[in-house]
Amino acid sequence: MSKILIVEDEEAIADLEKDYLELSGFEVEIENNGRGGLEKALLGDYNLIILDLMLPDVDGFEICKEVREKKNTPIIMVSAKKDDIDKIRGLGLGADDYMTKPFSPSELVARVKAHLARYERLIGSSAQVNDVVEIRGIKIDKTARRVWVNGEETNFTTKEFDLLTFLAENPNRVFTKEELFREIWDMESIGDIATVTVHIKKIREKIEFDTSKPQYIETIWGVGYRFKV
Ligand code: CA
Repeated sequence: MSKILIVEDEEAIADLEKDYLELSGFEVEIENNGRGGLEKALLGDYNLIILDLMLPDVDGFEICKEVREKKNTPIIMVSAKKDDIDKIRGLGLGADDYMTKPFSPSELVARVKAHLARYERLIGSSAQVNDVVEIRGIKIDKTARRVWVNGEETNFTTKEFDLLTFLAENPNRVFTKEELFREIWDMESIGDIATVTVHIKKIREKIEFDTSKPQYIETIWGVGYRFKV
């Protein structure tokens, strides 16, 4: 669900905008002063910001400028004065749209929808989503080849990474050491199935709380290893 931030000091207007946007299925947060609005806009994760120009503390010009330096979140600026809108345009602050109060709430909703759709097309075409495997506190980003154990990034060698990823992607299945060796090391590799044992030990030291009682990679005696879900 898209999340929208309204920075508006006139509470009646903010509430009206919120009601209409919520009716259209958006999640909405209101901030009534400039400083709070700037903080939320910079730190929060919003899909769009509706920004009033005249605000206590920090005005809409400043907020728009600072947000644009760090984020591409669509911004619709609103003001009671037509002159202000011309001024905003002239300043080139990077706002995506401008509206003069009073405006009809349905007009606002229509513009919000249009900007969200445009922005989603924009990021959809440029951003790539990383391929991530997540199992009980272990997060493996296959695209970036990075691993987090309980939120903490942990370094793995190339083969450790490949082995952990293979097991995590095929949970609840037992693999023999021979199978794992064939899967992770190519045939010309120097080494043998003992290499697998050594790598499993290294991986366990990095992911297990207690390596004598593994919670992730189990040893199935006489057979091989299994990643537990
Ligand atoms: Ca105002």
